[in-house]
Amino acid sequence: MSSYALDHPEIREAVAKLCAEFPGRYWQQCDRDQAYPTDFVAALTAGGYLSALIPEEYGGLGLPLSAGAAILEEIHRSGGNAAACHAQMYTMGTVLRHGSDAQKAQYLPLIADGSLRLQAFGVTEPTSGTDTTALRTTARREGDRYVVNGQKIWTSRAEHSDLMVLLARTTPRDQVAKKTDGLSVFLVDMRSVEGLSIRPIRTMMNHATTELFFDDMAIPAQALVGEEGKGFRYILSGMNAERILIAAECIGDAKWFIAKASAYAGDRDVFARPIGQNQGVQFPIARAYSQMRAAELMLREAIRLYEAGGNPGEEANLAKLLAADASWAAAEACVQTFGGFGFAEEYDVERKFREARLYQVAPISTNLVLSYVAEHVLGMPRSY
Ligand SMILES: Cc1cc2nc3c(=O)[nH]c(=O)nc-3n(C[C@H](O)[C@H](O)[C@H](O)COP(=O)(O)OP(=O)(O)OC[C@H]3O[C@@H](n4cnc5c(N)ncnc54)[C@H](O)[C@@H]3O)c2cc1C
Repeated sequence: MSSYALDHPEIREAVAKLCAEFPGRYWQQCDRDQAYPTDFVAALTAGGYLSALIPEEYGGLGLPLSAGAAILEEIHRSGGNAAACHAQMYTMGTVLRHGSDAQKAQYLPLIADGSLRLQAFGVTEPTSGTDTTALRTTARREGDRYVVNGQKIWTSRAEHSDLMVLLARTTPRDQVAKKTDGLSVFLVDMRSVEGLSIRPIRTMMNHATTELFFDDMAIPAQALVGEEGKGFRYILSGMNAERILIAAECIGDAKWFIAKASAYAGDRDVFARPIGQNQGVQFPIARAYSQMRAAELMLREAIRLYEAGGNPGEEANLAKLLAADASWAAAEACVQTFGGFGFAEEYDVERKFREARLYQVAPISTNLVLSYVAEHVLGMPRSY
């Protein structure tokens, strides 16, 4: 497939038009108030974009992953932030791949039309962090229900979601052969449960992230997705798609910073000439551009392999790593080019700078990608 087939120019044009209705001052206001961008998410939902990856038989657009990547990249290239709703696009993949026919029929059409939000993903916990299999939240089977106890942290959008994909331990770690066994995935209907408390966490950027506390939270046994004890591999099976989509957002950010910085460098006169005439200003922008283009090629390769039915762990991880680095280099160059104005709210540079920093840490930190490459690609000894 040529790279042009993966670009989806019509989708990009339509998304850019929609994003133009939500200019910098819209995002500045949301950021200032740490408010959820409800109108933006409603417009994306009405346009069907968040249902891009849901098959047509369940009411979605049935588009390939490249279309989802094009949508998210374009939102970020336009100066917006898809983090408020990107998970509505892909969290459903766990249900689609591993859910029962009844779960798919019940939930996917409502997720596709936006009447149900599935954009909360409860995996990370305060004590275990990146070491997912050490998580402590338990789900104990009691007759026709499970009783959940424990705590999650950084469960983003929980206050703006009806459903949550939850990973919990159903068999104690010392009773399973492998530590990755005994974890199970549940599709929790947060509208109807008792024993769940949600506490927002204020962060350096506007992200609607929260802490969750489960205190004997009872959920029906039918909330289990797939087989009990196999949840860890179900979560892993969605990681390549997530890495690819997040890399696309980083590429969009990098393009936004590079366009902003180049334009400003040409417009701003100091010492009676444009600052962009100085190579000290040009080079960091040009370097960030080259990093972005290289990352974009890796992203396209990851998408090409994924859409051909492969399992491109290496390329998806590399795309995420390189794209996050490129967006951070572009962010740095942009702030420096803007000088003092890089710190002023009205130029959006400082907001995007704060938003772009996240991708070095979440949804997977750079170190963990490097450790994947060292172990699984280069065959070096396992470090943890
Ligand atoms: C804004 C935000 C939104 C998030 N949204 C979600 C969400 O919706 N759902 C969810 O489940 N999680 C979410 N997360 C959690 C995110 O995935 C984690 O923060 C991330 O995976 C890192 O885990 P940690 O914070 O526990 O860091 P830790 O695991 O405590 O690690 C701290 C640092 O040490 C490094 N480190 C740890 N172990 C190693 C090692 N073996 N080798 C080298 N370096 C190591 C890490 O790379 C990191 O830099 C979110 C986080 C943030 C900040």
